[in-house]
Amino acid sequence: MITCFDIGGSFIRHGEMQLDGTVAETARVETPRDNWTDFIHAVGQSSGEAGSPISISLAGAYDERTGIADVANIPCLHGRYVQRELSDALNRPVAIINDANAFALAEAVDGVGNGKPVVFGVILGSGVGGGLVINGDLVNGFGGMAGEWGHGPIVDPTAGGKFSGIEHYACGCGQVGCVDATGSARGMERIHASLHGKTLSSKEITSAWHRNDPSGTETVEVFTTLLSRALSVLVNTLGPDVIPVSGGLSNDTKLLELIDKKTRALVLAHYSAPLVVRGQFAENGGLHGAGIFARRNLGNVHS
Ligand SMILES: [Zn+2]
Repeated sequence: MITCFDIGGSFIRHGEMQLDGTVAETARVETPRDNWTDFIHAVGQSSGEAGSPISISLAGAYDERTGIADVANIPCLHGRYVQRELSDALNRPVAIINDANAFALAEAVDGVGNGKPVVFGVILGSGVGGGLVINGDLVNGFGGMAGEWGHGPIVDPTAGGKFSGIEHYACGCGQVGCVDATGSARGMERIHASLHGKTLSSKEITSAWHRNDPSGTETVEVFTTLLSRALSVLVNTLGPDVIPVSGGLSNDTKLLELIDKKTRALVLAHYSAPLVVRGQFAENGGLHGAGIFARRNLGNVHS
């Protein structure tokens, strides 16, 4: 029996992998963020019978080559060899995969990218992330950072002079002008505040856009332009067959359609079908991807 975990800054979700490879969430607990002993206990109490393996989708940077994790929202993991230390503490095999990679793997193997050579999974939520799968294999890259297209100071806040008045935002990674700082739900809220002087949630902004409210429409226009410009470089570089999306913003079909339309208009290849689409595992990519990762990395384990 393999227990799969989806560990984020708010919750530790878990479920057991079924014989058909699916993993449904069976329970969740709040994530102990500041105390390593409490963290071990929270994972251990949900890990099934003694010695059985666990597979974890982790919301943060995880370098498989060094085994070191750096999760901004869970300080007690900072700089730890999480895989080895958890395995020693719980006395069971442990596999760990970054959450965006887990989502990309889930889509490439069992989702909208099934059978497609190049799948780039994108997270559009409180931050911007991604994961790259080529011919069914995850690409971790140097430092485990492949797919992290949300960082790098590339955003032109005027979008080439088409817009003015929005700020050049500081990003959590320490740089200024990252896609993460404008292309996330938080980024949309910042753009709206900058353009219109009002603090609204991303949901309120997209709702206003759906009602054809002029200020909401302008914010979404700026937001999707900045995002699709960054995506277009990624598409020309990687040549993805599909870009499945998860994260809170992926729930808005019309928003994804607009991002897809703008992105396809900016790239060199001709995509006749939608490229940027909601992922089949948009809600459950962490657990499902952790399950696939476990089957590939935990040896002869049986579900
Ligand atoms: Zn950044």
